[in-house]
Amino acid sequence: MRVTVIGAGVAGLACATELMKRGAAVTVVERAPGLGPASCSWWAGGMLAPWCEAESAEEAVVRLGAAAADWWERHAGGVTRRGTLVLAPARDAGELRRFARRTTHHETVDGDAIAALEPALAGRFRSGLHFAEEAHLDPRAATRALAERLAAGGAELRFGTDAGDAPACEVTVDCRGLAARDQLPDLRGVRGEMLVLRSREVALTRSVRLLHPRSPIYLVPRGDGRVMVGATMIESGSRSPVSARSLMELLGAAYALHPAFGEAEVVEIGVDARPAFPDNLPRAWREGDTVFVNGLYRHGFLLAPAMARQAADLVLDTTTGDATTVRESDAHRAERQAS
Ligand SMILES: Cc1cc2nc3c(=O)[nH]c(=O)nc-3n(C[C@H](O)[C@H](O)[C@H](O)COP(=O)(O)OP(=O)(O)OC[C@H]3O[C@@H](n4cnc5c(N)ncnc54)[C@H](O)[C@@H]3O)c2cc1C
Repeated sequence: MRVTVIGAGVAGLACATELMKRGAAVTVVERAPGLGPASCSWWAGGMLAPWCEAESAEEAVVRLGAAAADWWERHAGGVTRRGTLVLAPARDAGELRRFARRTTHHETVDGDAIAALEPALAGRFRSGLHFAEEAHLDPRAATRALAERLAAGGAELRFGTDAGDAPACEVTVDCRGLAARDQLPDLRGVRGEMLVLRSREVALTRSVRLLHPRSPIYLVPRGDGRVMVGATMIESGSRSPVSARSLMELLGAAYALHPAFGEAEVVEIGVDARPAFPDNLPRAWREGDTVFVNGLYRHGFLLAPAMARQAADLVLDTTTGDATTVRESDAHRAERQAS
């Protein structure tokens, strides 16, 4: 079966991978000249942290994301499985207790255990939570690996090509992210701002979340002393440059984690808007010859594997009986068609 996937963000590349695996002849059409800053996926932290996400996300996110690290390891490699460390300054100890109540798969760690896990943070925090089964990856390396394996496996990747110039096919998979708002009016943008710092003094080896009642942040190691610091969550689809306030919050939180970040080099500042439906859950559904996959919100890398499996089922008209399947409900469809 000939399938065209529109969009080479994480959703499109994961769908193309699943479809190629199941024998479809896949063409990926991306309007940008290559993998890069035009896609929201470029700016992601790359946390694969389903159990931490339970703090603020629906149970479906945990269920759909639980096997993501395995999928990424199989299809792209480069997954670091060192868990997530969740910390709070002493004055925000209540935030840590609240986080622990709302999540599972963690153990409480004291100052010594924190120092053993992350020597750079020795002596800085008295207690925290360790989610040992979580993982992270570098989103740019991971999407590049998917694209390379697709090409090596016989898929065609057409960059610099708009959806309107896509080749004829039997089924189209629309993975345009926020650009699909032209057809999906209930899709909205949730702006996220991020930084990359390079520090010679603070070397982290796992994702670290620093809780704060107003501006919680996370840091994801990228190797070579670099760390991604993210991310704001602002109800806006704007991709305008980072605001001074957000920059201060991100830098202030990094500094609170370790004052040596004050001496770090600012390598990069980035902004994008996450595609989200009103319930902040992703959806995959079919309308005629088009399958839509969208609304990956703040969970693109975490949920793309599960959504890609659903999309492949919809394209090939098969049901795997996978218990993680979430299809667009009748209520969602009625709501979307009414809006
Ligand atoms: C700061 C930040 C941090 C994040 N951190 C994480 C994280 O740690 N973990 C996680 O799981 N998620 C994270 N996310 C969320 C994640 O990045 C998104 O959920 C994900 O990137 C959405 O992917 P997508 O493929 O749907 O959209 P995109 O990545 O935006 O891809 C859509 C693609 O479609 C292309 N396109 C659009 N229109 C057309 C057209 N007409 N023709 C051809 N091509 C077209 C676009 O150019 C684009 O490349 C983060 C997001 C942000 C902003």
